[in-house]
Amino acid sequence: MSIGASRDRDPAIRVQSMEKSYKDLQVLRGVDFEVAPGSIFALLGSNGAGKTTMVRILSTLSRPDAGTATVNGFDVTADPLRVRESVSLTGQFAAVDEILSGRENLVLVARLRHLKDPGKVADDLLARFGLADAGPRKVSTYSGGMRRRLDIAMSLIGQPKVIFLDEPTTGLDPEARLEVWQVVQDLAKQGATVLLTTQYLDEAEQLADRIAILHAGRIIANGTLADLKQLLPPVEVEYVEKQPTLEDIFLALVGAGSRGGSGVELNRGRS
Ligand code: ADP
Repeated sequence: MSIGASRDRDPAIRVQSMEKSYKDLQVLRGVDFEVAPGSIFALLGSNGAGKTTMVRILSTLSRPDAGTATVNGFDVTADPLRVRESVSLTGQFAAVDEILSGRENLVLVARLRHLKDPGKVADDLLARFGLADAGPRKVSTYSGGMRRRLDIAMSLIGQPKVIFLDEPTTGLDPEARLEVWQVVQDLAKQGATVLLTTQYLDEAEQLADRIAILHAGRIIANGTLADLKQLLPPVEVEYVEKQPTLEDIFLALVGAGSRGGSGVELNRGRS
């Protein structure tokens, strides 16, 4: 179908001139970015930068004051129902029911979505997320990583094309973080578009095809890790050359990026 084909080539997410304030607090002051289908895009920013606000707008939970955004080709303001049909949102506060087993949680969501064989849907997801053995156990006995994986599994019922993960590893121990990273990489391999927000530089560095830094209401840098590394030249220390880490770049940009200062847009990488 031509419409579907052209949609597949279009950005999975396109945000233009997005603004959002809470009373006097201007959180988003003209945000622009695009996310290519099937890629992992990290929105990186300090606590309070506006990452959750952006994700809430993209998942139609909140309305922008100005600007436009499309998700999977649908406008978030004009066509919120179509947007909701194509996305899933997983927040840092797991939506799983602790009294139920992992399997029961999945069956419940599959029933709510009127899927044909809820038991099979649940079993397939348990297997895919390494939870087959734990499936019959109450969620209250799960580790943090298992809960987060179950939460992501629940959000995938209905096969969303675009997956929003809002700080997916906040509060997890290092081992559980690695488990979630693996899940995120697998989702993108299977063709989903993933937008994740994070305040962890290593998470963006490990997972993302592109990284955008949100600071003082704007995207002050946007590119591949290699693009971002070029923003800071290698530092010569006597005879030792040191490549900047993402942390060096982030701190240099955020420190230098005064409110209203000019941002840096890198589009040489894949778009
Ligand atoms: P992040 O996800 O990057 O930590 P948020 O989008 O949650 O940032 O918040 C950005 C800013 O907006 C913060 O200062 C936060 O306190 C404020 N904020 C978020 N939601 C609301 C709201 N519903 N009402 C008022 N202020 C809010």
